[in-house]
Amino acid sequence: MSKHLSMDIRVPVELDNPSIKRIESLCIQCGECQKVCREKISVSHHYDLTKTMDTAICIHCGQCVNVCPTGALVEKQDWMKVHDVIDSHKKRVVAITSPSVRVGLGEAFGMESGSFVEKKMVAALRALGVDVVFDTTFAADLTIMEEASELIDRITHHKPLPQFTSCCPAWVKFAETYYPELLANISSSKSPISMMAPTIKTWYAKKEGIDPKDLYLVAITPCTAKKFEIKREEMCSASLYHQSETYPDCDCVVTTKELANWMKAENLDMNHLEESDYDSLMPKGSGAGLIFGNSGGVMEAAIRTAYYFLTNQQPPENLLKLEAVRGEDGIREATVTINDLNINVAIIYGTENVRKFLPQLKEKHYDFVEVMTCPNGCIGGGGQPKHIGENISDITQKRSESLYQGDEEMVLRTSHKNPAIQKIYEEFYSQPLSDLSKKLLHTSYLVRDDLHEDPSHYDIIQPEKEETETKIRYKCSICGYIYEGDLTLEGDDFTCPLCGVSKDLFEKI
Ligand code: SF4
Repeated sequence: MSKHLSMDIRVPVELDNPSIKRIESLCIQCGECQKVCREKISVSHHYDLTKTMDTAICIHCGQCVNVCPTGALVEKQDWMKVHDVIDSHKKRVVAITSPSVRVGLGEAFGMESGSFVEKKMVAALRALGVDVVFDTTFAADLTIMEEASELIDRITHHKPLPQFTSCCPAWVKFAETYYPELLANISSSKSPISMMAPTIKTWYAKKEGIDPKDLYLVAITPCTAKKFEIKREEMCSASLYHQSETYPDCDCVVTTKELANWMKAENLDMNHLEESDYDSLMPKGSGAGLIFGNSGGVMEAAIRTAYYFLTNQQPPENLLKLEAVRGEDGIREATVTINDLNINVAIIYGTENVRKFLPQLKEKHYDFVEVMTCPNGCIGGGGQPKHIGENISDITQKRSESLYQGDEEMVLRTSHKNPAIQKIYEEFYSQPLSDLSKKLLHTSYLVRDDLHEDPSHYDIIQPEKEETETKIRYKCSICGYIYEGDLTLEGDDFTCPLCGVSKDLFEKI
């Protein structure tokens, strides 16, 4: 007999799920969890429990938590672990805060949706006993430096395209589970949290003269899937760097809701806190890092920096408010032209929409695809304050506008112009995609092939790859751009899409 109820009744949740738990006594079997998981996330009803040895598949996005009307499904409450570490006074506790928390936390204290409470959130963490507070937007800028460099490398060296973003651990697990043939297309750049964590346990630890084992790092996020991500075996790069016994890069993840619970348990009221600033050794990131919380934000941030990498000039005003990639639709597309290079991009949220989008790869060439699992991106994350019975898209829109406004109010709008990012490359990482950055800031993925799904959809990208392997290639002798195909068929007005020289300067390779 199955240990789980039928998936027509509710989603199955394993006891060892690192992100989510069910309180049985509160479950009224209304089916809201299986509905969102089936219709928006596309996991429930997309596998057969009898073929997975009665083991539930979960990508940990927490959307079931957000729709559960009784609170039977909740994220695992890990804030008590941080509380205990603080009480023990044995470690220096460092908190890092994701962009979306500052536009969600106020709602748990009766504030208007989207209220921007960054400085009060920092003050709250200090009042709770956290020693150091950094902003994860710093590492969002680092992610953009690596991810935009990787995109240009893929385009110029004819590596697998489109490049899919990798910041969302739920999407990554979805791809590992259902579309393993896409893994070569997923950016190897880690998410901002997973870049910030090893940077803190290497560069920051050395600067401060502290043993990294004496640091306890907690990520404050809108995301229940980060609780899963930090437990992935690969996420221990700092200990590999130090050649010591294995320890995690990030020790704990606490969601926006958990932070509110923790504050309430300590009688801290948001409305009565004095504001506080982040610590300065790893200062706040740029506006580009801030908009990571919005669907389309990672894309827009990456385009700003890709423009600079390709032209050596700051992006024009229209790229600082790239309306073409903003919006509410679950699948959006745009073509961004930089010099003569047309970059076809797509922005998707909701993994059900990934299933709808993928067949388009056979019809059209895309260079860059952003995927976020939650509605409208991380601002709609499973760890954000819940609003049962309200229109969630009205709420996510207000949170989204608040992040875009925060970006517009900043002087620093691009990741590559962030002086602190320039400094960390000078002092430590050398340059994007360097050997050290590949060790600490990049990762690899697993094929989770225990699903026995119909493999007929596993050939989405493969045929294109086979076709390009037989093509003739030419290399631009000025910038190294690789042209695939028969260049003699191009007219005399053909120029290199990157540096603009004529086709005479291409050599066959
Ligand atoms: Fe987490 Fe954001 Fe992905 Fe949701 S969209 S699972 S909040 S990373």
